Order: sequence, then structure tokens, then C-alpha cells
Amino acid sequence: MSAQLLDGKILAKKLKESLRLEIADLKSETGKVPVVVNIMISDDHAACAYAKSQQKVAEFVGIDYRLDILKKSITQDDLSEHIEQLNENPEVNGIMVHKPVPEQINHQVASNCIDMIKDLEGVNIGNIGKMLLGQTNIIPCTPAAVMEHIKSTGVDLKGKEVVVVGHSEIVGKPLSLLLLQEMATVTVCHVATSQAGKLVDHIARADVLIVAVGKASLIKGEWIKKDAIVIDVGINQVDQKVVGDVEFDVAKERASFITPVPGGVGPVTVVMLMKNAFEAFKLQIKDGLTL
Ligand code: NAP
Repeated sequence: MSAQLLDGKILAKKLKESLRLEIADLKSETGKVPVVVNIMISDDHAACAYAKSQQKVAEFVGIDYRLDILKKSITQDDLSEHIEQLNENPEVNGIMVHKPVPEQINHQVASNCIDMIKDLEGVNIGNIGKMLLGQTNIIPCTPAAVMEHIKSTGVDLKGKEVVVVGHSEIVGKPLSLLLLQEMATVTVCHVATSQAGKLVDHIARADVLIVAVGKASLIKGEWIKKDAIVIDVGINQVDQKVVGDVEFDVAKERASFITPVPGGVGPVTVVMLMKNAFEAFKLQIKDGLTL
């Protein structure tokens, strides 16, 4: 039997609706809506398209989304100063620095300049530390989107074998912490796992498999455990088509649930960004910074 499709557009719609209501409620209490600033230092086509989709979601849920376009020659120090000004601005609740950034800019250094309670993407070093301790609701958006997809299956992660392929700072590592918080047994695989020829063995045990690498067809469908949940974060361009990291056609015949690419994790990730904006807004209201 074919797997049930985890349709990101349907899940995103549901999450957007509920976020919109929550923001409207808070607006009626405070007279304010969250204001976010996306700092763009690139005219990269994909980055502009992503910013547009963020703007659309923001408008839908009732967030005031502003684009701050900076010149490509900006120095790290000037960027830090710019971020500092936004940190100080009580009208601004959320800040992010859109990737890609020019060569002279270190994105992590820029993210660390963002005030922890305005850190829209949850990538500030302070928020990552708080996440380790389970003490923040501002978490990196893609891992948060993966968790929403898993939640939508109704499967309890407690004691489940979960295998994450990819250990990047923005996806694999933070995701492994979120999975641990749900008491899953987590295995994180990376390039050395593949080089050691162990990837297949780990995947064969996975009740839940999450792949975030960026290599088309890295994961063969036949490796997947029968009835596993498969979340494919990868985005690859092959022959003018966008595909994930998992061999979808074969995998869907073995899995119980599977995300498509495109239309799986991506649409939910944007909503998670806006959820972070709302969480940041609530924190600032609590701290009396915007009232
Ligand atoms: P990244 O920083 O390049 O990380 C890729 C990870 O894959 C690294 O940990 C790397 O390990 C590992 N890896 C590389 N080759 C491997 C192999 N043969 N076997 C096992 N692991 C291997 O990428 P990322 O930013 O995490 O993104 C991963 C993918 O997700 C990309 O396709 C990206 O476009 C996509 N993505 C999608 C969304 C979304 O919302 N849908 C969001 C973010 C990213 P080493 O570091 O050890 O080499």
C-alpha cells in the first residue's frame, strides 16, 4: 500500500489559520501586531522568491513584515551596528538576516548580534543554548516544521528509533535536540556515516527517518523500513525538476507517511518563522518592552 502523503500546503494552511486567530486575539488585547524586519543583502533570485513567500504568509497571519535592503558592500561592523539599531527599536519585534550573504559577512556573527528575544530564525547562539535546555519557544524554523509534520501523523515519538541524516547547524543538530525532548532514540548520520558504509544499516532501523543533506536520491527507497515515517528536507534541482534526497517513488511504497518535495517541509517552514515572530512578540509584551 502507498504511504499517506504529508502535504505541507494543507498543514501550513491549518497552522496559519490558528496563528492568525492567536495574533488577532493579542491585537485586540494590546492594539499591536508583531513587526518583523528581514535584512536582505542579496538580490539572489531564490532568496527574493523566499522573501516574497514570507511576506505573503506574514500578511495572512497579521504580521507587519518589512524588508530592509542593504548594499552588498556593507561591512560586518556596519551590519552589526544596523542590527543594534533594530535591537534598540521598540517598534521592531523580530529580526532576521536573509541568506545568502556576501562573502565578507559571517552569517552566524550577524545572527549573534540579534537580541535573543528578537531572533526570528532561532539561530542566535543564546537561543540555541536555551533550546538545548528546553527553555525557549523560539526555535530554528526547518526543524520546527519537521516536528509539526511528525506531530500531524499522530505518532508518539517516545522510544521510537529516529534517524536524522545530516548534522548541519540549521537543520540536523537542532532537530536532534527537539527529537530528544520527545524521548525518541535519536541517531544522527553524516558524511562519515556514509563513508563508513553504515548509512543503510541505520536507515533500516528507523521508525522515523529525516533526511536533510541536499543530494538527490542519496537515500534509496528500498533501504527504508516498512511503515516508517519519512520526512525529506532536501531540495535539489534535477533536469529542471525539484526533488528531495529520498528516492520518492520507491520509498512511498514502503513508508506509512512521506513528505513530497516540493510541497512538504518547505511551506511549513515559512509558517514556523511567523510563529517565532509571535513568540518573540509575546516575550516582549511580557517583558514590558512593547507596551
Ligand atoms: P548543509 O549545511 O550542506 O548540510 C548537509 C549535511 O549533510 C551535512 O551535515 C553533511 O555532513 C551531510 N552530508 C553530506 N553528504 C552526505 C552523505 N553522503 N551522507 C550523509 N550525510 C551527508 O545543508 P542544510 O542547510 O542542512 O540543508 C540540507 C538540505 O535541506 C538542502 O538540500 C537544503 O536546500 C534543504 N533545506 C530545506 C529547507 C526547507 O525548508 N525545506 C530548509 C533548509 C534546508 P558533513 O557536514 O559531515 O559533510
